[in-house]
This record gives sequence, structure tokens and C-alpha cells, in this order.
Amino acid sequence: MAAPAPILSADDPSFADLLAARPHLSVHPFDGLMMEDVPLARVAAEVDTPSWVYSARAMRDAYRRFAAAFADAGLDASIHYAMKANDHLAVASLFAREGAGADVVSEGELLRALAAGIPAGRIVFSGVGKSVAALRLALGHGIMQLNVESAEELEIISAVAVEMGRTATIALRINPDVDAGTHAKITTGKAENKFGIPFADAAALYARAASLPGIDPAGIALHIGSQITALAPYRAAYARAAELVRHLRAQGLTVRRVDGGGGIGIAYRDELSITPAAFAGAVEATLGALGVPVMFEPGRSLVGPAGVLLASVVLTKPSGNHRFVILDAAMNDLVRPSMYDAWHGILPVAASAFHGPLAPADVVGPVCETGDTFTRGRELPPLGPGDRVVLLDTGAYGAVMSSTYNARPLAAEVMVDGSDYAVIRPRQAVEALWAHETVPGFVTG
Ligand SMILES: *Cc1c(COP(=O)(O)O)cnc(C)c1O
Repeated sequence: MAAPAPILSADDPSFADLLAARPHLSVHPFDGLMMEDVPLARVAAEVDTPSWVYSARAMRDAYRRFAAAFADAGLDASIHYAMKANDHLAVASLFAREGAGADVVSEGELLRALAAGIPAGRIVFSGVGKSVAALRLALGHGIMQLNVESAEELEIISAVAVEMGRTATIALRINPDVDAGTHAKITTGKAENKFGIPFADAAALYARAASLPGIDPAGIALHIGSQITALAPYRAAYARAAELVRHLRAQGLTVRRVDGGGGIGIAYRDELSITPAAFAGAVEATLGALGVPVMFEPGRSLVGPAGVLLASVVLTKPSGNHRFVILDAAMNDLVRPSMYDAWHGILPVAASAFHGPLAPADVVGPVCETGDTFTRGRELPPLGPGDRVVLLDTGAYGAVMSSTYNARPLAAEVMVDGSDYAVIRPRQAVEALWAHETVPGFVTG
């Protein structure tokens, strides 16, 4: 097959634009690209590549901006960090220190949140297929709330709670049937998606929940998707939620809280995304009059912009009128470009490269799949073997989605705080890939 023609991306943001929007990154005249006060060239030299590098300051700032926006809007709001975006213990612990709760979607995430010091009383459990073992664990720890996604699940939770002599505090996750305007693989609030209870069935099921043994219905929950960059879908969904709460109250049912989910998008390229203040304003306008505490489950917006994937160029391969820049990072590390067609900013690390002449490059990994392409036709300076680059905004849905495809060990993870940095997970040893494999006697003979 002929190589695809390069897509010239003259409209891509410049290096200066990318840096201006990411205050935890800057270029030092000698040390090159810095995260906070740490040169990324130093991290690459000491930890090697590929490595995920996270800014603690960027995470704290994002959390505080979100919390302050709710406070400024006069809302009684709690924040439950969505562990699935980046479930590293250091990341979850950082948010625990800020007072966050957690949103978990599996037994493993629940145990991770607890291990990170997030109190059970601030943990919410979402997901369409919670196992009985996971429900037992959640009820045993007395977590804050189970978000129920179906009538069938409600009956199972009641039975498990009764058997354990516990009461399950639940919210019904409703599917408001709104189009979040995001990528089809991460929209969750349309009627055809697997998530939540159909809006039309919600009132009857809430009444059923109130009558079931072992169930304490606390409120309703919704989560309409991820990487949402407009307020209108939230306004529509929360207006429907408010309508449902009023209807439930008119039936004599009690609603003590509303969980608005997560999903606030970030500016990967130059998207105009939602500011925390605008979001809080929309929440106040739609849910404020209900007079109940509101809960939110942000993931991506708290950690996405804080992380980079630091990589080295293996070699540059000219191809017709363009070039392939082959990195030591690949789709097994960062799957978002191949899975969601995601655009990630790319910056060089060396100071001199910020002034180099730009020319289009297809940036790819070494994995044996054409889909192992981070970008095509990106304007980049000259890059040769050993030069470093970073893929931006990879703090969310980055390391957590990695695999070891092509027998590539999991990359190292690093956290930067001011002029300090720590390796928070060493690079996986290659032997670890097969350490738990056995070859049965009928194979060896
Ligand atoms: C994924 C998810 C979130 C977090 O979504 P972000 O887009 O990362 O903010 C929150 N709540 C639920 C139920 C989720 O499935």
C-alpha cells in the first residue's frame, strides 16, 4: 500500500500556544522543556523513556479550581475523583489530601481508593455490571453510595444487603437520553447506550427502591459521557434530572442528593472547553433550586492536562515528501490516538528544537500495527535518534489503558512537585511479562 499523503496541519496550535495553555510547562533557555522546576531532559536521562510524568501542582490546581467554582456558585458540592482516569496511588492520595472522595467502577478501584486513604464514606460505586463480590466489599466497607444502573441490579443489591444485615445507600443512575456531542465511544447518556435506567422507568423504580429491604434510596445520578466541551448537554441533562426530582417529591418520595457525574472536557488541541465556573453556573441554574447537595465525579479534567508521555526518537525515516519520526513510545503505552482518533500536542524537549525550522512529520511507535500512529503531518523541528519529545495531556486515560502488546513492558511513572520529582512506579522489568506463565508438561513432553 502506498504511504498516505501527509495531512498538513497548518491550523495546529504553535508551540507557544501549547505552552501558554499549560502553565506547569515552560522552556528554559538552557535546560529546555521543564515541568514545574524540573527539566524533562533530566527525567529522561535518569529514568529513561518512555515515561509518564505528572505535575502534582497541575493536579492540585485543577482540583482547587473545581472546588472553588462550586463554592463561589453557592453550591453544597462534593467531588469524587473518577479513579479510572488515573488510578495510581500517588494521584489518588494527592486528591485524598485535598479532601476528595472517589468514584470507582470495580472492586480493584474500590480497593485502590481505600489504599490511597480515601474514606469509604466518600466513595461512590458506578458501573453497569458490579459483581456480587464487589457489592459485598462495598457494603462491608459502608461506602457512601452505590449508583444503580438497572432494575435487575437493584434487586441483587437488596438481596446482598439483606444477607449481610446491611443497608445499601443507593442512587438511581438515570439515562437522560441527551446527546453529549462527544466521541461515540465515550458518550453514555443516549437511550441506546448501555448505561443507566431509562428516564421513563426511573420514577417507578425509585418507588420500588424505597419499598425494598436493605435499600436506602438517597437520590439520583447521571453521567452523560466524557470529553464534553459544551454546556448545553449538561444543561439539558440536569434539567431532566431536576424534573425527575420534582416528580419524585410530588409522589411523596425523598431525594437527598443528586450526583451529576463527570465528563468535563479539556482542550487537547484548541477546543473551547468548559470552565469550572461556567459549569458550576449551569449546575446552579438547573439543580440549585432543589436545595440538595450535589456530587461530581471528574476524572479527565483533574489529571489529563497534568501529564505528559516522555519519549525518545528511535530514528527518523524519510518517506517521499515527508518523514516518519519513530518513537520508543507506542500505542500499547498511549492508546487514545488509535482508539479515539485523539489529537495530542507534541513538544520537543531540547531548548534549541523550539527554534528549529518546522516540517511535517508522521509520529509513530514501533508496534507492528499501522494504527500505531500518534499523528500525521505534524509540523515539528528536525528530530534525530535520541532526541526527546513529549505527548501532552496524557495524565488521564494514559497509563491506565496501557498494555504490554508486542512484549513491551509498562513504562515508568514519575511525579513532579516543584523542583522535586519521584519515580512513582519503576519501569516494568521485561522478565515480569512472563514471570507468572507456566508451560505444562504436555507441551514440553
Ligand atoms: C468515566 C466516568 C467518570 C469520569 O469521566 P471524565 O470524563 O474522566 O471526567 C465519572 N463518572 C462515571 C460514572 C464514569 O463512568
